[in-house]
Amino acid sequence: MYAPAGVKTDPKMPVPEMMKAWVLGDPNELKRVEKPTPVPGKAEVLVRVDAVAICATDLDVISEGPPAMIEGGKPFNKNFTPGHEYMGTVAALGPGVDEFAIGDRVTVEIHAGCGQCKRCRMGMYTSCLNYGLNYGEMDKGHRANGFTTNGGFATYAVNNINTLIKIGDEMSDEEATLVVTAGTSMYGLTELGGLVAGESVLVSGPGPIGLLGVAVAKSLGATPVILTGTRDNRLEVGRELGADHVVNVRNEDPVEAVRKLTGGKGIDYVVECSGAPGAINQAGRMLNRGGKICLAAFPHEPDLIDVAHLVRNNIYIYGIRGEGKSATHRAHAFMAAKRFDATKIHTHTFDMEELPTALRYARERIEDAIKVVVKNAR
Ligand SMILES: [Zn+2]
Ligand SMILES: [Zn+2]
Repeated sequence: MYAPAGVKTDPKMPVPEMMKAWVLGDPNELKRVEKPTPVPGKAEVLVRVDAVAICATDLDVISEGPPAMIEGGKPFNKNFTPGHEYMGTVAALGPGVDEFAIGDRVTVEIHAGCGQCKRCRMGMYTSCLNYGLNYGEMDKGHRANGFTTNGGFATYAVNNINTLIKIGDEMSDEEATLVVTAGTSMYGLTELGGLVAGESVLVSGPGPIGLLGVAVAKSLGATPVILTGTRDNRLEVGRELGADHVVNVRNEDPVEAVRKLTGGKGIDYVVECSGAPGAINQAGRMLNRGGKICLAAFPHEPDLIDVAHLVRNNIYIYGIRGEGKSATHRAHAFMAAKRFDATKIHTHTFDMEELPTALRYARERIEDAIKVVVKNAR
């Protein structure tokens, strides 16, 4: 029976000593193994993972490694469990934890940060200066589950209490997995200044962060909200999530379209979620003077940028990483209040045992997959 020293458990929710987990072998090789159920330390809880959403970054981690970093290097053949967009039920409490109770339904943020560096102290825990330092003599206690510490493609995971958000019974497991994605969109808008009511916002790229970026911008009062992309079916989902206008860039020049839609004024903010080559130059030409660009995508290639245009027009560029500054809590508040229906981006659910199939659906966008969720049977 699972009964580590100092850890509180409840006979109503017994925890097994061993659990099932997917671990990364060589690139693109996932194995389902038995692992010891992890033990929460101070300020940590054990979460029974109920559902996990697959993210494009999981696909990068599984095939290439970064941004995951285990023991200072690539995550392969280190018994590492990926998966970072999960939700579940609190199953055991680490020493001294009274902020949560066993049985609480929770969703998670990815990054706990070390809690002791300058950036963590500023609330920028997704940019922790001690990223990945959680082993050996370098141990700063940094956690980014599914990147530097074990993630959610398992039966249980350990989470710092600061990464947990309690959720109500009216929110489904699938919807709860999307809170952190909406949190990333919210962080982008927070870094752009947050007060976007009455301001115009363009989102480029209708992936999950872009689509929920539309929803969050609309909920914050932005108007108009414009979405650009190449797939009509995804642009249609964007419309359902609050886009006032959608532009298919295969049929229409987006810079021209923005000029027309804003009466020649240009846009106030661009949230760049496409990672497409030339996207920053295009954003620069859509913006009015003094406008701001938030970069939320990870392009795979370096991009050539017309810096002079950005300087002449006093354009600000912000890179965001993940879901900092408690943005996930604000996104959750909007979702709990039904300000938008994030489940419109959830398209498929598989059993956790079928993870390789689920990953293939996400990678190849089979049946127009957007967000694919895997669930643990219980
Ligand atoms: Zn993700
Ligand atoms: Zn830190």
